[in-house]
Amino acid sequence: MSVFFRTTGTMGGPEFFVRPSSHSLRAVRVPVIVAVLERPDGLLLIDTGWSRRTCAFPHDDPGLAHSLLLGLSVKPEDALASQLISQGYVPSDVRHVVATHLHADHVGGVVDFDRATVHVHDRELDATSRGLRGGYASSVRSLPRVAPYTLDGPPALGFPFSRDLFGDGSVLLLDGRGHTAGSVVVAVKLQEGWALHAGDAAQYVGEYRADDAAPPSLYARAMSWDLSEQRRTYGLLRGAEATLDARVVVSHDPDLLSTLPGTKEAAWPCLWDRRKGASKPKPRG
Ligand SMILES: [Zn+2]
Repeated sequence: MSVFFRTTGTMGGPEFFVRPSSHSLRAVRVPVIVAVLERPDGLLLIDTGWSRRTCAFPHDDPGLAHSLLLGLSVKPEDALASQLISQGYVPSDVRHVVATHLHADHVGGVVDFDRATVHVHDRELDATSRGLRGGYASSVRSLPRVAPYTLDGPPALGFPFSRDLFGDGSVLLLDGRGHTAGSVVVAVKLQEGWALHAGDAAQYVGEYRADDAAPPSLYARAMSWDLSEQRRTYGLLRGAEATLDARVVVSHDPDLLSTLPGTKEAAWPCLWDRRKGASKPKPRG
């Protein structure tokens, strides 16, 4: 089992909006980072990024106004389903999608993986049905393959609630609320330490690493469901880095993507390789 990371195109905005403590009008491009885990039963995605349709026709979906607002820059080949083919897989190899939260830039692409079970925190599903704030891919609610779960497991990795997705400790779902009501941090056990995909728990690595007195970015303040809960999650991510040798990934940090493995050849090996040693799914090509 191993994990690597891709982006489905970029979004953009003025630096003063997305980066904490910046006053610059300089335009910055930000990625939409998703994780691809190779597992014995196929692939697991942490978020999907934008869909094939959006990457081909962004002016239709999410629409011209929304595309301009987000500074969306996508090409047909940016869709994760297309990128997986370039990595030797086919979309039907994807058996599980875990959503960090249900904003459209994170889960719009679930429609491209019709064999995958989509694991969604029940609090997040509830938030979309009640229309708490905007940006949700509300169509996810009606997908037949959505598997809601409750975070009712014991504390793990310093987080107060958890869920062991496969019951083997290889993928833990952790309460990362703040950006949205049901945001989760997805922890993947590596051979050495943990990888924590935190979605939009923070915009930049520097945001959650700052001390409690530092103001978060304007973006974080504008988009946050509950800023005090989000600050609590910042502290939990700092703690995981400090005590667990955790590698934290946030979706939209432009400086982070180049530091992450981007192909299956460079992927970080996971616990499963060492513990069970069974054969990996066979990539095509
Ligand atoms: Zn979000």
